[in-house]
Amino acid sequence: MSRSQGPSSPEIERLIALMSKLPGFGPRSARRATLALLKKRDALMLPLAAALESTAAAIKTCGHCGNLDAADPCYVCSDPRRDSKQLCVVADVADLWALERAGGYRGRYHVLGGVLSAIDGVRSEDLRIGELMERVEADGVTEVIVALAATVDGQTTGHVLSDHLSGLDITVTRLAQGVPMGGELEYLDEGTLMAALASRRAV
Ligand SMILES: [Zn+2]
Repeated sequence: MSRSQGPSSPEIERLIALMSKLPGFGPRSARRATLALLKKRDALMLPLAAALESTAAAIKTCGHCGNLDAADPCYVCSDPRRDSKQLCVVADVADLWALERAGGYRGRYHVLGGVLSAIDGVRSEDLRIGELMERVEADGVTEVIVALAATVDGQTTGHVLSDHLSGLDITVTRLAQGVPMGGELEYLDEGTLMAALASRRAV
């Protein structure tokens, strides 16, 4: 009987196809990772399968900020010691994690869900800008910190946010020097990120 899927069994080919959808994985690395899992079935493959299943079941998107956590509201939104009047707007949960790893920020977050992009077809209605405006109003926010990557798309998105927020009686700031052009927050070292936050300036 001939196999149409590839050189391995359909089960293995299916796993390789799924793995190759992960960021940073191509077909070759997906094949290597699949083989490594199969060779360490008890030590790695089954614990990974169990972790994937329990994490998928447990983790929710925070209805306030868009963070990923086992609780909704998330640990940031439900922490009474954090300043609800200060909102840091980030493109992605990865950026929120980067800022939390850096430590020192005591306000809350708002995850936009991306940045505007003509190439990727991301429009302003695809981002959580409406939710941001509602939160600013409902929580009596006094400062919005725009913490987006120093890319053309990040800057364009920052301008659109400033336009939306300009009519309100709040301070809008953005991360200062230290974020290099084209710099994605998630790849900055923690000291640079904290310095950029501390020396943020009004837009
Ligand atoms: Zn939250």
